[in-house]
Amino acid sequence: MGIVVENVSKRFGNFAAVDSVSLTVKTGCLMALLGPSGSGKSTLLRLISGLETPDSGKIWLIGQDATYQSVQERNIGFVFQHYALFKHLTVRQNIAFGLEIRKLPKAKVKRRVEQLLNLIQLEGLGDRYPNQLSGGQRQRVALARALAVEPQVLLLDEPFGALDAKVRKDLRAWLRRLHDEVHVTTVFVTHDQEEAMEVADEIAIFNQGHIEQVGSPSEIYDRPATPFVMSFIGPVN
Ligand code: ADP
Ligand code: MG
Repeated sequence: MGIVVENVSKRFGNFAAVDSVSLTVKTGCLMALLGPSGSGKSTLLRLISGLETPDSGKIWLIGQDATYQSVQERNIGFVFQHYALFKHLTVRQNIAFGLEIRKLPKAKVKRRVEQLLNLIQLEGLGDRYPNQLSGGQRQRVALARALAVEPQVLLLDEPFGALDAKVRKDLRAWLRRLHDEVHVTTVFVTHDQEEAMEVADEIAIFNQGHIEQVGSPSEIYDRPATPFVMSFIGPVN
């Protein structure tokens, strides 16, 4: 199994941000965590990544108990909404960063970077700096950098959240194509139901720290399991 979350809780003071959540993400699956702001999506992602430790429960990554592993031990790629790239490094250098830290041979790094530039369809822009790219191009570079080290798991927290509607739409289709090529187990946080519907294999609907329903986009849309899901999903326009 890709990711197994077992009865995980996380409190801040008396407040349960994540309240006894269980969730399975199959290997190679792209799972969206969808729900309103403050419902616990980012906290669960941070628990999966190791940036937070659960108060109770277990987290398994690719068959290993990762509950108390450090971030480094988990071999995870991340992309967040902001501050994704190093400003003083070119696109190539940004993508190469994690590979150089791991002291891979230079020729190998070079080959891998060119492959990734190709994958994100930015072949001609490798020598640019982040401020010479559009917002959408920057997030594609951030994805390439996250994928460079061949993570077991890719975690995306509202990666397109800061971009305008047209660019977001293009990136959805683009992320879907990328996932179909790379097939890394991915968890994608969003509060945008249309985005989740279009990109994800499966969707987990969050509400106040718990999960209301998990299912494919069509299951969630056609057969909402609770009144909350019904009102949150509504018609997709
Ligand atoms: P989402 O990503 O769904 O918007 P979050 O997981 O970021 O929600 O937050 C869930 C709840 O937990 C929110 O009410 C938030 O204020 C609270 N929370 C998250 N992180 C912290 C923290 N470090 N300290 C205190 N409260 C937090
Ligand atoms: Mg969030």
